[in-house]
This record gives sequence, structure tokens and C-alpha cells, in this order.
Amino acid sequence: MDAKPARRELLVAASAAATLGALGLAGCATAIPARTRVLVVGGGYGGATAAKYIRLFSANRIEVVLVEPEASFVSCPTSNLVLGGSKQLADITTPYDGLTRHHGIQVVKDRVAAIDAAKKQATLASGPVIGYDKLVLSPGIDLMWGGVTGLQSAHAEGRILQAWKAGPETVALRRQLEAMADGGVYVLTIPESPYRCPPGPYERACQVASYFKAAKPRSKVLILDANPDVTSKGPLFKKVWADEYPGIVEYRPQHKAVAVDARAGSVKFEVQEDVKGTVLNVLPPMRAGAIAVDAGLANANGRWCHVDFLTFESTAAKDIHVLGDAVQSAPAMPKSGHMANSHAKVAAAAIVAQLGGTPVNPAPMLNNTCYSFVDASRVIHVASVHEYVAAEKTFKAVPGSGGVSSAPSALEGQYGWNWARTIWADMLT
Ligand SMILES: Cc1cc2nc3c(=O)[nH]c(=O)nc-3n(C[C@H](O)[C@H](O)[C@H](O)COP(=O)(O)OP(=O)(O)OC[C@H]3O[C@@H](n4cnc5c(N)ncnc54)[C@H](O)[C@@H]3O)c2cc1C
Repeated sequence: MDAKPARRELLVAASAAATLGALGLAGCATAIPARTRVLVVGGGYGGATAAKYIRLFSANRIEVVLVEPEASFVSCPTSNLVLGGSKQLADITTPYDGLTRHHGIQVVKDRVAAIDAAKKQATLASGPVIGYDKLVLSPGIDLMWGGVTGLQSAHAEGRILQAWKAGPETVALRRQLEAMADGGVYVLTIPESPYRCPPGPYERACQVASYFKAAKPRSKVLILDANPDVTSKGPLFKKVWADEYPGIVEYRPQHKAVAVDARAGSVKFEVQEDVKGTVLNVLPPMRAGAIAVDAGLANANGRWCHVDFLTFESTAAKDIHVLGDAVQSAPAMPKSGHMANSHAKVAAAAIVAQLGGTPVNPAPMLNNTCYSFVDASRVIHVASVHEYVAAEKTFKAVPGSGGVSSAPSALEGQYGWNWARTIWADMLT
């Protein structure tokens, strides 16, 4: 190792010192006892960000171990473009090695099988036990197969896919769309809110429609939504479907899927008539990732995890901080990658403050922007800022802070890609 720090390292150290000062954490890093360890479970939008920022905010005094089963990070945001055909999986994949090289984080390719909150240790699927001072849990979502009869076996047979975690299944769904003859029907069912990424299904409908318009113009995209209306950017999406994809996209609200028959290619609904399709993309209800449920942390209806929003500490277990989609959302708080990244920074600052014995920031803020691609290059966005309201112990959207696009544009398409590249760099390099 070089004795003399490189210019880049000096700049990083200077900017870290300025950040620590701004956060009131400057004096706190040195008060953190040696060999303090934070174990981060899940290397997605919440976990990877928390791992990196705990190192930054503690001036590298806290040892951070990140456990993640996947070899690389594959982004759900922009994964709908793989379905539309304008991007490949490689375009949305980032390796984890930057976290080790730049921040000294130990990345363990494994899955946490069990958490013992009383002993403050986690057991990996491969056997080893890791002790921690604090545990950060950001396991994302799991699909509730029981919500739609027949779906789990149809999924296991590869007949009905979800692709609601980006990766090989995204490519497999694209292959189904490619194999479909012109004149076929792609059926996308959406569960009741809350689910991962409110605008995600409507963006997906646009992407598939854009592919059909170019390659299979007699084909249809049928959106069957359990909700009473489009849950995000509704007027914008509806205008895009009417203006850009007339005769291709059809939207039907109040369609709650309850069963599938994969061989017949049909979906059953709670109230409405059965629907048949050629490619079925059935999204069942969702809940916090299994490890959160198994560890007894899903104390909101057995689905999501209540947290203290000042620190993101679980209300069910001390020294376990839950982030991202797994959290029982505050009002108007979307289950999004940007929001998980924002959670992670608030939690990282609170964890470093707690471990260093200094006060936690009493007035944290969060922000969110969700960009949706309506074709290969044009985008619409929705943005919001959220402040902690101490009297109600929750986050609320700051009135007048956000906004939505007036219309899709290619300029916003550039913003959308820059958002993706920037947040991947923020999390992983
Ligand atoms: C199609 C689609 C489009 C989307 N578009 C956008 C968008 O444009 N903008 C946006 O902000 N958000 C978007 N989202 C939402 C975004 O992907 C999620 O909100 C975000 O990934 C949540 O972050 P997370 O950390 O909670 O979960 P994830 O990012 O899913 O990370 C969870 C990680 O935990 C790991 N894990 C799970 N269990 C264990 C275990 N037991 N041990 C170890 N590791 C474990 C998983 O392997 C995974 O890597 C989209 C989602 C989809 C599906």
C-alpha cells in the first residue's frame, strides 16, 4: 500500500470531513469503540447505500459486512427497458467490488438464513454465524404466492412470470414476448397498493406497447389493475396510452386477480369475468422479504415492518434497522429505489450517531423522484420531498415540494438515465 495518499483519496477525505461536519457527526466518529461492526443484509438500493454511508459517516471506523446472495447488482429501475428491447441486462448491472475497493466493506456472497436479535448475531445459509453491534436489513420484497391460486406452480414451470426482481426472469419474460405471434395479448395484472414501485407496472405496459407498435402491431397490452385507478402519474400514463398506443393498450381498473390457469392461459378475478391472454404477467400481492418476516420484524399485518422513522430502527427488535420496500410506508412514501437510498442515508447517520454516543438528527428529510420511460427515449417523472413530523412520529410530504412532468420528453429521458447512473454510482462506487 502507498504511504502517501493519492490526490483522489485526499479529496475524498476532505469531502467526507465536510459531510461529517454538516451532519454533526465530526466528533462522533472518534468516539466509536474499536471493532464496532454493522452487518448489512441485502445489497440493493437500501442496503448497499447504507453500507457505504456508514463507512463514510464513521470515517471508516465502523467495520461493515454486507451479505448479498447475488454476484452483481441488477437494477429494477430501468429493467422495463429490457422488456421493451432497447436495453440489455448488462446495461443495468453493476458489480459489488467497488464497495470493497473504495470503502473497505467486506462483501459476503451468501444469504442470511436466520437472525437472533437477542444474541445480536445472524446465521448465513452456508453455516457461519456473524455477530453485530447493529444490523441493517433491506431485503426488498417477496411475492405472496398464496394471493393468486395456481400462480406459484405456474411460475415454477416457467409459464407465468413476474420479473418484479430484475435479473434472468426479466430476460425470460422478454423471450416470451418475442416468441408471441403478432395478434397476441399480453396481460399484466397489478395487485392492490402498496406494492413495489407504484408507476412500475404502467411503465412496463408502455415498454411492451412500444415493442408491439414497432414489431407486432396487431398485438394488445391489457392492464388489469386491482386498484380503482392508475396509482401513479395517472393522467400522464392515460394520455400516453391514448395518444401513442391507441388500439394496443387497454386499461381496466377494479380487476383483482385471484387465480390463474396457466394451461388455459386465463386469469380469474374476484368480481369481474375471466380474461385470456397469450403472455400472462401476473403480479401477486407483496410483502417484506422473507428474512424480515421470519425474524419477526413484519409487525404491520404480517407484511411490512414498522420502524421508528428517526432512526429506521425496527419497533420489534432493538439494534435492527429496516430500510426500503420492507418498511411499512409513511403517508405518500412510495416503495422506490430512490426512497430506499434516502432511507439508507438517514439510517446511516442515525446509526453512526448512536454508536458514537451523539444525538440523532431530530429533523431528517427524504426525497424521491421516479422516472418512467414511455418508449425507448422519452420519460415522465414524479418528485416529492418528505419531512419528519415529530408530533406524529412520521414522514409527510412537504406541501408544494414535488411535481410531475407536463408531458413526456427526450430531455427527461436524459435526466432519467443520468438519475440511474448517478444513483448506481452513489450506492456502489
Ligand atoms: C420493474 C420495476 C421498475 C422500477 N422502477 C423504479 C424507478 O424507476 N425508480 C425507483 O426509484 N424505483 C423503482 N423500482 C422500485 C425499486 O426497485 C425498489 O423500490 C428498490 O429496489 C427497493 O430497495 P430495497 O433495498 O428495499 O430492495 P432491493 O433493491 O430489492 O434489494 C434487496 C436485496 O436484498 C437481498 N436479500 C434478500 N433476502 C436476503 C437475505 N436473506 N440475505 C441476504 N440478502 C438478501 C436481495 O438479493 C436484494 O439484492 C422499480 C421496481 C421494479 C420491479
